[in-house]
Amino acid sequence: EDDFQFLLCEQCQQESPNLKLLTCLHTLCRSCLRKNKPTGQCPMCQMANPQGSGIPNMDNLLFTNLQAKLKVYKKIVDGGDLFCDNCKKAGEFWCSSCKEFLCTNCFEVHQRYLKRESHEAKRVVDIRAGSAKDYLEGTRKTSDLSCSNPTHKSQTVSLYCNKCEKALCCICALLDSQHGSFCDIRRETQRRQEELGTMVQELKQKRSVFEATYLMLQDAAARLEQAQGEMREVIQERVQQLVQLIRQEEEEMLVLVETRQEQGRRELARELQHMEGVLQRMEASERLVKNMSLYATEQEVMDMQPFIKKSLEDLKQLQPAAARDQTQPGDFAECRARLQAL
Ligand SMILES: [Zn+2]
Ligand SMILES: [Zn+2]
Ligand SMILES: [Zn+2]
Ligand SMILES: [Zn+2]
Ligand SMILES: [Zn+2]
Ligand SMILES: [Zn+2]
Repeated sequence: EDDFQFLLCEQCQQESPNLKLLTCLHTLCRSCLRKNKPTGQCPMCQMANPQGSGIPNMDNLLFTNLQAKLKVYKKIVDGGDLFCDNCKKAGEFWCSSCKEFLCTNCFEVHQRYLKRESHEAKRVVDIRAGSAKDYLEGTRKTSDLSCSNPTHKSQTVSLYCNKCEKALCCICALLDSQHGSFCDIRRETQRRQEELGTMVQELKQKRSVFEATYLMLQDAAARLEQAQGEMREVIQERVQQLVQLIRQEEEEMLVLVETRQEQGRRELARELQHMEGVLQRMEASERLVKNMSLYATEQEVMDMQPFIKKSLEDLKQLQPAAARDQTQPGDFAECRARLQAL
């Protein structure tokens, strides 16, 4: 049974009485086609459907007919009761051209009238003994061609008109003068099969070209992937280096700021201390001079005044230092330059 997996819809793998053949030669069931309608392309190969979003009008007759034939085969093999489609007696024969079961009597009639039209009714027991493949092989031999003239449906078709590319019965060939250049219909079907075979053979060469190109593209895609990966690594590595460099710079600059700050703090502290000393000396001199004027004897004035005067003169010489050094603490020129350079 697995031999006939190919009869299923190629998309959903379900059996369907309505298999359609797309122009890409994929076979899909009606429900898959309906589901796929919005995209307007084959879900297997993405080829655009030339019928737009509609459902193609080419039935896969081969698959549909094979499915029907297999159904009959199963019915025969399953061993249930079979009945003559004419008289409801036990069915002993199956004619795949009439698509009917026949009892022994009806079979004899059938043989008398239809045998010459190449109907080949088979014994049910023989079908049951053979494989499904044998059965399908057998039904293939029975001609199911019908004349292209609809009033000749029951006529045996044996000719092919090259002029209008149609299958014909002998009556058409004899009576209808529009036809000409006949050949045997079997020769024509054979020729058509061979034509397809040759075309597929030629396509095989093209296929190997496509396969080679496919491999090349795959290779190109892989190489692109690799190049991208490598570039990504280079970028990451370089950025990491730069980040490390900048962190180092940061550390050095912070150290620089720290030492600068420490230095400034020390200098200012010294300055402040100096100022405090000066102020205390001034206060002391004011106090001493005031007490001199209040309580000193003349002798004491004569003895001490020159010494005090000298000290006051020293004090007078002093200039406040803060005014001239205002710019000192904000001087981070080196840091600024290094930041600029980053
Ligand atoms: Zn399907
Ligand atoms: Zn397709
Ligand atoms: Zn028949
Ligand atoms: Zn019968
Ligand atoms: Zn005809
Ligand atoms: Zn013709």
